[in-house]
Amino acid sequence: MNERYMQGARKLEHSLVAFMQDIVRIPSQSSREGAVVRRIAEEMEQLGYDEVTIDPMGNVVGRIGNGPRVVALDGHVDTVDVGDPAQWQRDPFSGDVEDGIVYGRGTADMKGGVASSVYAGALLKALGMPGDITLYVTGTVQEEDCDGLCWQYIVNETGLRPQVVVITEPTSLKVYRGQRGRMEMEVRTAGVSCHGSAPERGDNAIYKMAGIVSDIEALNERLEPREPLGKGSVTISEIRSVSPSLCAVADGCTIHLDRRLTVGETEQTAVDEIRALPAVQKAGATVHLLEYAVPSHTGLVYPTRKYYPAWQMSADDPVFEDALAAHRAAFGSAAETGFWVFSTNGVATAGMEAIPTFGYGPGHEHFAHAPNEQTEVDHLVRATAFYAAFVHEFSLSGVTPS
Ligand SMILES: [Zn+2]
Repeated sequence: MNERYMQGARKLEHSLVAFMQDIVRIPSQSSREGAVVRRIAEEMEQLGYDEVTIDPMGNVVGRIGNGPRVVALDGHVDTVDVGDPAQWQRDPFSGDVEDGIVYGRGTADMKGGVASSVYAGALLKALGMPGDITLYVTGTVQEEDCDGLCWQYIVNETGLRPQVVVITEPTSLKVYRGQRGRMEMEVRTAGVSCHGSAPERGDNAIYKMAGIVSDIEALNERLEPREPLGKGSVTISEIRSVSPSLCAVADGCTIHLDRRLTVGETEQTAVDEIRALPAVQKAGATVHLLEYAVPSHTGLVYPTRKYYPAWQMSADDPVFEDALAAHRAAFGSAAETGFWVFSTNGVATAGMEAIPTFGYGPGHEHFAHAPNEQTEVDHLVRATAFYAAFVHEFSLSGVTPS
């Protein structure tokens, strides 16, 4: 164990927590992140980052170092809405700190990871940035609406392609190495409308959908668990229909599917599986993968399909070994490991771009999107220490990830 990581991080604790409170107090729902992005850029500049840019999508990217081996610490800066305010015991934007806990929307998901990774840059400057490393700390946008879109943009449009991405979403300070994927589909049936007084003249699109609804419920029961990510799932999240009037037979019906994908399940296998359902065949229903095309806070539209692949890093990947070594160096103990239940920007970095990706972050996944969201101050300090230790271990091990 090397005391300097935690000692260095403790020295930064006061300003780290003040910065965390500031960014929690700035509301930043998806596509409305401009103010928090500017605040993060300002902090990076004050901490002496070598370069701070805000790209055309509106992601803030801070750089330290100039070496050939590129590490990115990624945190998304958007949050979901607060939900029912009556369920909150404090103002969701208070940023209060009491008894070592920071409170507010985004503290767990995931302004804690953002604050700790920004301060990891400061800690690395204090401890010494290895000459072979370039560190990027990214504060990315629109994750809550379309996970990974920001990294599709960064890799394909700005040319930044790190050799390792650390996702700083909450892991309760465990090292995570993957997640299930997801996708959004619609199934549509068409019928023929007629006057509701003589329904036998028409063909009701809702009746055609009824069998499909049952088939999908049964499909979810049939999906098999697969190691190490567990079982995929499918559920119907919405049903809607159209007809010329409430006194007419419905001529269109649509269901929205939330599909979670495990190992070996892809966009194609999931679509084919729905198309093959007996009721879908019988009704002549169509299956559609949906598109996301919502402007970012800068107004940039970067359309993509709502397909977010599953991903995992092998337990014997040298980068994963560096992560475990970093935990031992920073804390003198073996890391606990695991997988996220929810989805992260890893769908793009690992799932689409095949960049070695793992996760480590302050706070707990179960507080994400929940009222009374909170994160321990001690987690913020420890995450800062871990990220700095990881950069050192990655430099020392000298592996070039494939
Ligand atoms: Zn998140």
